[in-house]
Amino acid sequence: MTGSTTLSVYWDETFVEHNPPEGSFNIPSHELVLEDEAHPDCPERVKNIKHIIEKQLGELTSWKSVTKATPEQLQRVHDAELLHEFKEFTENGGGRLQTATFTGANEHSCEAATAASGAAIQAAAEAVDTGAETVPYALVRPSGHHAQPDQMDGYCFFNNVAVAAEHLLSTGAVDDIAIIDWDVHHGNGTQEIFYDRDDLLFISLHADHRSWGEWHPQTGLPQEKGVDDGEGYNINIPLPHGAGNDGYDYVMNRLVEPVIRDFDPGMIIVSAGQDAGVMDPLARMVLTKPGFENLGAKAQSYARRYANGQLAIVQEGGYQPSHLAFATLGVLEGALGVETGVKQDPFALYPEENLDDVVKAAHETGTVLAEHWPIQFGDQET
Ligand SMILES: [Zn+2]
Repeated sequence: MTGSTTLSVYWDETFVEHNPPEGSFNIPSHELVLEDEAHPDCPERVKNIKHIIEKQLGELTSWKSVTKATPEQLQRVHDAELLHEFKEFTENGGGRLQTATFTGANEHSCEAATAASGAAIQAAAEAVDTGAETVPYALVRPSGHHAQPDQMDGYCFFNNVAVAAEHLLSTGAVDDIAIIDWDVHHGNGTQEIFYDRDDLLFISLHADHRSWGEWHPQTGLPQEKGVDDGEGYNINIPLPHGAGNDGYDYVMNRLVEPVIRDFDPGMIIVSAGQDAGVMDPLARMVLTKPGFENLGAKAQSYARRYANGQLAIVQEGGYQPSHLAFATLGVLEGALGVETGVKQDPFALYPEENLDDVVKAAHETGTVLAEHWPIQFGDQET
C-alpha cells in the first residue's frame, strides 16, 4: 500500500445502539408475505465497514472520537420543534414515525443522530484544516440526507451533511461548498435545506424513484433546480436501473465534473451512500467495488483540482451489510489513492447485463432440446 494521504475516521459507539423497533421492514408488512422481513438499517452495516477499515487500511487510519452536535448547530438547518419532538420521542422509547412508518427509532437514536451530525461537522472541519493531507470520513449511523428542515424521513433524523456544511458556511470557514450525493436515493432533505441558496451546490445522483409519500414531496427530477438565488444550484441526476460502473463514470465525467469545475467550491462533501451496490436490496444499480473506487477517486480528484484538496466523506445508506463494507472500502481506496489486498469485488457475480451471452447459451441449449421439443431459432434471430 502506498500513499501519503491518511484517513481520519470519526466513530462513536452510539452508531450501533440506534435501531428501528423490532418487526417488519415495512409497516404494515404485505398481507401475502408470511414472515416479516428484518429492517435493512441494521448496526451490522457500520460494524462491517469499521472492521474492513481496521483490517485493510489500519496503517493509514486515525480513529477520532466524536463531539455531539449542539442544539445551535442542529437548528441552523432544522426547526426547533423537530429537535424537541425527536428527543421526546426517543426518551419515551421511540417507535415508528407516524409519516414514514418504515423509519423508526429507539431510546438511543437521538444520541446517535446528534453524534452523527457532530461527526460530520468534525470531518468537514478537518478537511478545511488539513486539505489533501487527510481524508476525513464520518462513519455514522443514522444517515441524514432525507431529513428535511421539519420532517424526519427515510431512516434519517438530522441531516448530517447539511448540518456540517451550514456550520462551515455560517462560521466563515469557507465561502461555498459542493455536496456530491451518490446515495442511490435522492437527497431530498439536503435539496430542501439549500433550495434557495447559491453558496451550496447540491448534486444528487440517484435512481429515478420520485416521491415516496406526502411527507416527501420532492421528485428528484432535473427540473427541481432551486429557487431564487438558488436557481441552478440544485442538480438532480436521476439514473435508470442497471446504470452500473460505466453509467456512473459517464455522468460523473459529463455532468458532475463540468459543474464542479465551473462552481469552484471552497470544499467538497460527499454524501456517500453505497446502496447503488450490486447486492443492495433497495436498489438495482449494480455497481461493484471498482465502480466505487472510481467514485472515490473522482471525488478526490475534483477536490484537488477545484477545492484545494478539501474533501470530507460522510456515510449515508447501503443495506447489504457485507457488500457495503467492500463498496465503502472501494470509495476510501479511491479517495486515498491506495490499493489494498482486496482487488476484486467478491460479490460481483454478474457485474453487467450480458444479453449476447444469454442468446448464445440459449441457442446451445436449444440445439439439444430441439431433438425432443419444438424449439426453433431462425438463423438471424436473437
Ligand atoms: Zn439510500
